[in-house]
Amino acid sequence: MNSPPPLPGLSAWGETHPVHGPQLLADPLHNKGTAFTDRERDRLGLRGLLPPRVFTLEEQLQRSLTALRSKPSNIEKYIYLTNLQNRNEILFYRLVLDHIEEVVPLIYTPTVGEACLQYGSIYRRPRGMFISLRERGRIAGILRHWPQPGVRLIVVTDGERILGLGDLGALGMGIPVGKLSLYTACAGVHPGYTLPITLDVGTDNASLHAGPAYIGLKENRARGAAYDGFIAEFVLAVKDVFPHALLQWEDFGNTNAFRLLRQYRHHLPSFNDDIQGTAAVALAGVIAALRLTRSTLAQQKFLFLGAGEAGTGIADLYVEAARAEGLGKAEARARCWFVDSKGLVVKNRGDRLAEHKLPYAHEHPMIVPLADAVKAVKPTALIGVSGTPATFTQEIVGTMSALNARPIIFALSNPTSKAECTAEQAYTWSAGRAIFASGSPFAPVEFNGQRHVPGQGNNIYIFPGVGLGALVSGAREVTDAMFLAAARTLAQLVQPEDLAVGRVYPPLTRIREVSLRIATAVATAAHEAGLAQTPRPADIAADIRTRMFEPVYRDYAPGPS
Ligand code: NAD
Repeated sequence: MNSPPPLPGLSAWGETHPVHGPQLLADPLHNKGTAFTDRERDRLGLRGLLPPRVFTLEEQLQRSLTALRSKPSNIEKYIYLTNLQNRNEILFYRLVLDHIEEVVPLIYTPTVGEACLQYGSIYRRPRGMFISLRERGRIAGILRHWPQPGVRLIVVTDGERILGLGDLGALGMGIPVGKLSLYTACAGVHPGYTLPITLDVGTDNASLHAGPAYIGLKENRARGAAYDGFIAEFVLAVKDVFPHALLQWEDFGNTNAFRLLRQYRHHLPSFNDDIQGTAAVALAGVIAALRLTRSTLAQQKFLFLGAGEAGTGIADLYVEAARAEGLGKAEARARCWFVDSKGLVVKNRGDRLAEHKLPYAHEHPMIVPLADAVKAVKPTALIGVSGTPATFTQEIVGTMSALNARPIIFALSNPTSKAECTAEQAYTWSAGRAIFASGSPFAPVEFNGQRHVPGQGNNIYIFPGVGLGALVSGAREVTDAMFLAAARTLAQLVQPEDLAVGRVYPPLTRIREVSLRIATAVATAAHEAGLAQTPRPADIAADIRTRMFEPVYRDYAPGPS
């Protein structure tokens, strides 16, 4: 296969305007709406198709913001933003970037969960591709229907484990769409390079079969050889049609997620964000927290509630990081304990443990309630990745606080309704000592006259930068070492003023800088491991910066007026 061409910068896009008149207004990548200048209106056949007054991007932005804020609910805001994205991507991304803390929760967690649940009824026009079992045998041909030929980044789901909401089948499309929007907003990957895909292999969610608005196949999920054959054909088709694309596996059920990652990560550049991205963001939060607990990674002991993709992914990456600090693999694994839906994960528990849990099944008597497991294991860090709310009780937070001067308590389950405890509970029950982070955002909490700002351990800090770094370097593979580099870089970006309020992640307003720094670390790791397929630039960060998409309008009718 040929090496991937370098990722061109913005100049490769938008310099030419492929269409005129109404078609241009219908093309969201080039449409400027009321911001087309008088000269553009005359030259591009737009005169009369727009109201006469010419607006600036800044004026459009203010109008859009007012309209957005007038919507009565988050789902209405999501619909408004989706329509804006379908109409004018520059304006959409300007809005996301300039108001990132307000808008990200509307286009991603927690609102995207509600949007997926309602995707059937709020669906207006297609975004991304749906490929169903009906298309078996002709997937490559279907992929060629995509209008942009130079796809470099695909996020794909089969909808089986959408956030903590379970099997939503084809309704899961909100997730790849949302993640790719974040790639553009946070890391500047041009939207023209991105392709969201939902693989519809059926759903085991009976309520969807019964629902009149369901948009997917009303049949049970394909399993076994039928499923594996479909995925194998899809991967081959991607390699054939988009040979330079990076593939992100997203929200697959854990019976398939680990297997698919193992099977395909050396076949094409690909990673699983739920496993590897989560691992890096959680580990980064822990590394940053160590500056508050004044301890080392090797001294930590973790208890995870939930032994799925997120939990075991975090533990696996912790083991890599602790090994780099001199701990043996077995010693590092012995510092990670899990409670799953049946209780403490131990050897000889009497059930057949899934493969990903085996390294963490220690020799210990079985314990069922989490509260007892916390007392027995005595963790320094309690990490919630179970999708079950209200499981970190007052008793449990109290025990963590008795065991540790600064207990690390991360309630990572999404959306907000699934968090193991709220920020307020963590701070009040620990008398303000918990170092708390969550998956979905929580507002700051005042306790005993002190302001605590919960960090959001959102994968948004990691995957856009990792993806960008892999793309610009043309990495043949996305390795665990790259995720470790990303985690360390993110932790370094946490400032003393963040830590002073207990926040173990930088504010989202710094996301572009964070993504650039992570992309630089990942591209450097790719070059150093001999996995890069593009020439190494003298200054990797400067080179990446020139390739990042900035949402600004281009002049389609330059020249003297
Ligand atoms: P998963 O389905 O792979 O694993 C879930 C695990 O939770 C399983 O081991 C299951 O046995 C266990 N579990 C379920 N109910 C339980 C209970 N009552 N008590 C104890 N364990 C229980 O899912 P996943 O990908 O690991 O995701 C889990 C949660 O983590 C989801 O809510 C997801 O939104 C969240 N998550 C958050 C982030 C983030 O914030 N950065 C990233 C990824 C996942």
